[in-house]
Amino acid sequence: MELKNFIGGKWIESESLQKVPVINPANGESLGDVPLSTKNEVELAVSAAKAAQKKWALIPAPKRAEYLYEIGFKLKEKKEHFAQILTKEMGKVIEEARGEVQEGIDMAFYMAGEGRRLFGETTPSELADKFAMSVRSPIGVVGLITPWNFPIAIATWKSFPALVAGNTFVWKPSIETPMMAYELGKIFEEVGLPDGVANIVFGAGTEVGTALIEHPDVKVISFTGSNATGSKVAELGGKHLKKVSLEMGGKNAVIVMDDADLKLATEAIIWSAFGTAGQRCTACSRVIVHKDVKNELEEMLVEAIGQLTIGDGLDPTVKVGPVINKSALEKIHHYVQIGKEEGAKLLVGGNKLSTPPFDKGYYFEPTVFTDVKNEMTIAQEEIFGPVVSIIEVNSLEEAVEVNNSVKFGLSSSIFSQDVNKIFKAQRDLDTGIVYINAGTTGAEIHLPFGGTKGTGNGHRDSGQAALDVYTEWKSIYVDYSGKLQRAQIDTE
Ligand code: NAD
Repeated sequence: MELKNFIGGKWIESESLQKVPVINPANGESLGDVPLSTKNEVELAVSAAKAAQKKWALIPAPKRAEYLYEIGFKLKEKKEHFAQILTKEMGKVIEEARGEVQEGIDMAFYMAGEGRRLFGETTPSELADKFAMSVRSPIGVVGLITPWNFPIAIATWKSFPALVAGNTFVWKPSIETPMMAYELGKIFEEVGLPDGVANIVFGAGTEVGTALIEHPDVKVISFTGSNATGSKVAELGGKHLKKVSLEMGGKNAVIVMDDADLKLATEAIIWSAFGTAGQRCTACSRVIVHKDVKNELEEMLVEAIGQLTIGDGLDPTVKVGPVINKSALEKIHHYVQIGKEEGAKLLVGGNKLSTPPFDKGYYFEPTVFTDVKNEMTIAQEEIFGPVVSIIEVNSLEEAVEVNNSVKFGLSSSIFSQDVNKIFKAQRDLDTGIVYINAGTTGAEIHLPFGGTKGTGNGHRDSGQAALDVYTEWKSIYVDYSGKLQRAQIDTE
């Protein structure tokens, strides 16, 4: 099966002769081919989106929202179908895949609700017989560039607010996970979204992504991915004066204080660090632990890791699936070597799994380093695999300082029973998401999602905050005095 682009409401075979196989990371099987589309195809998609946009924006928002309700119901109906394909193309275990599809369903219904809100403001005028208000306006054609680790959820975080706000879009999914985009495209078609409102162009970031960013008719770029790519997107977007929303990497920590419920903390660390094989942007990759409970926590972690089943995520007993591809496997292994060379102590794991039944896929053992110093590479850089560094601290203040010392600021968490410590921590942890007595993952779609510092550039996916990316504010003054009234001057 070779995937086609979705342009102007039609599935169109790519004119490109170049294609790459979509590989199941659990067993190396090919699921189909994805084309590396051309700039010309981006041009066609953008012009389809542009042609459709004005009419789409004139449909009343509650009516636009009805398409999102329909999409939500279709996703619900096909939840298991989506989850199975998601596990096959990306590797996350089936339970998590179902959760990710559910996130898309939730986002559809939540953003559909925005069709009857999209709140603006009314405010008194400083002048008599004058009315003042501000409304959200659609921006036009938006470009969406998404990663492979949440191929359905992130697409919905971006496309649904864009649609309900009256924009049309061209979406470039990751070439690692095009099947989810294809399936979502089929739903766009089934619910009868007007032609050109939603467009999907498969291909390489350097070709399709760049063409989208450079295109003069694409007014907004919403990107999620790595910092290396994000900074290129920002640079090029800046050059073309685009509004660019960036959601990038993380180096998330769970802080475990001396009064923590260690059993709960252990469960949360296991879930946050090894779920999705450590490839969530919110994955726990650091455990910052008070010295008095370090040994006990380590023993509990080692025991819990010993009980994790590794394998193909379609097997419901499996808890840790493969990583996305060979280069990810090598990168994770490389970081483990660096950790050893820099003097961290390997507590458990540290190896690629290459003997049957793992030999056809890309598997890495859940890995924990201890006695990690904060300045070590493995404590600072995003590894994006099942690798955790344990860093010992003496106080809450030190824990917060260590947490905040990395360049990222996505998610953090603290385990403590002391309300004073908890309130200080939630104030001082410099991340966009803070969890109290829960792991670093598990975002709910009606709250803003994103990070501080190097994780982003001040925008948010999800929640009402997402609408800020896809709308412009328009301030409207209605003077019904029948005479010239000058603001700031005729105020006496
Ligand atoms: P990536 O940066 O390699 O790719 C992301 C997308 O950008 C892909 O669609 C890719 O094709 C495209 N791209 C690549 N080069 C491009 C270019 N020059 N111009 C335009 N587009 C280009 O990231 P990835 O490996 O797919 O995803 C993993 C990364 O995403 C991790 O760093 C993870 O932390 C991050 N992530 C962040 C969040 C968040 O919300 N903060 C969520 C999920 C993933």
